[in-house]
Amino acid sequence: MFEPVLTRNIHRPNSEKIYTYLANGGYEAVRLALTKSPDELIEMVKRSGLRGRGGAGFPAGVKWGFMPKDPDIPKIVAVNTDEGEPGTFKDREIVERDPHQVIEGVIIASYAVGAKRAYVYIRGEFFLGVKRWIKAIADAYEHGFLGKNILGSGFDLDMSVHRGAGAYICGEETAMLESLEGKAGNPRLKPPYPAQVGLFGYPTLVHNIETLACIPHIILRGPEWFASIGTAESKGPKIFSVSGHVNRPGNYELPLGTTIGEIIYEHAGGIRGGKKLKAVIPGGASTPILTAEHVDVPMAFETLAAVGSQLGTGAMIVMDETTCMVEVARRLTKFFAHESCGRCVPCRLGSRRLYEILERIEGGKGKPADLDLALELSRQIDGLTFCPMGSALVNPARSTIERFRDEYEDHLTYKRCMVGNPL
Ligand code: SF4
Repeated sequence: MFEPVLTRNIHRPNSEKIYTYLANGGYEAVRLALTKSPDELIEMVKRSGLRGRGGAGFPAGVKWGFMPKDPDIPKIVAVNTDEGEPGTFKDREIVERDPHQVIEGVIIASYAVGAKRAYVYIRGEFFLGVKRWIKAIADAYEHGFLGKNILGSGFDLDMSVHRGAGAYICGEETAMLESLEGKAGNPRLKPPYPAQVGLFGYPTLVHNIETLACIPHIILRGPEWFASIGTAESKGPKIFSVSGHVNRPGNYELPLGTTIGEIIYEHAGGIRGGKKLKAVIPGGASTPILTAEHVDVPMAFETLAAVGSQLGTGAMIVMDETTCMVEVARRLTKFFAHESCGRCVPCRLGSRRLYEILERIEGGKGKPADLDLALELSRQIDGLTFCPMGSALVNPARSTIERFRDEYEDHLTYKRCMVGNPL
């Protein structure tokens, strides 16, 4: 039986308070980390196999290794908590209920890469989370875990919170850096990567909050313990946000590699009303949709890639047999068209044209050539944009056309919806 690690504190009364965290072994990982060299810590994170939990899945230890070693170059750690991917609500739980676990991870990461400044970028709508983080950071200063000469080690670190202002694209790391600098949240061209030229021009280590929450456990329990959980290429525990047509939606912390079916039927209580499973978006709205035939696929980076999808944020949107797939694609594409920052043409205009095609198909006004047009338009957007949003925004339309083509054809040919939605 798997024992939760990242969410072990969240159901305790006053879980966000420093005294609760300290009473349950909190900040012991920082004490231990400060007795090791930065290179030892980087090696530990590499050996753990930890990959980023924000969507891209880049190996965390490798990222730490990219930061320049020169002690005279100022370095920064930036924590990405701009959780805005539809279907994803795991970071919010950590932000609100266990900030100290992440603060501890940030201190260790900052010490390992030689950063003396850390910024925590929190989604603007997380009012409670921001309030709790401001208090948590103040308490960490008071207890000597932040500020000058942390725990007598000679290491200094300052940390502050920055609130986002409601743009989905600020979850993209370089757009977040622009926003932290006080500018509009437009993504930057890469390279240079943030580890080379990041916030205010300084090398910056950017991590999602769940990634950093893993760090204290890797230090205390050892990288081998972490690497013993999961699959060949996806190590450690993961918080899966499950929403949609299930009996018990919520966040479930499980080993990476747990199958889609086990998460839906054993943890989320199965499909609502005894209906049949029709489709699952496995990793947040930007990941390609899967069908009921994929229930045995493990939720891991490599296994989802093998069936043409992605782990993304691990946010599963579950849909039953009453769901119209054309409507799903149309609604998700509308979201991306609205959130396009407008910087590049394929995303700014392509997302709107794609939405218009889906809207007319759903409404029974589609033309016979519309499916090919939507697929061709998707090809003209995917990989041809400034940031990964272009590739993400085509996934709802393209994957539903590929996997539920008969539903589109019913709308086009017979002017009807297979699940009975009015056109
Ligand atoms: Fe902006 Fe979209 Fe271009 Fe990304 S792909 S830079 S979100 S317009």
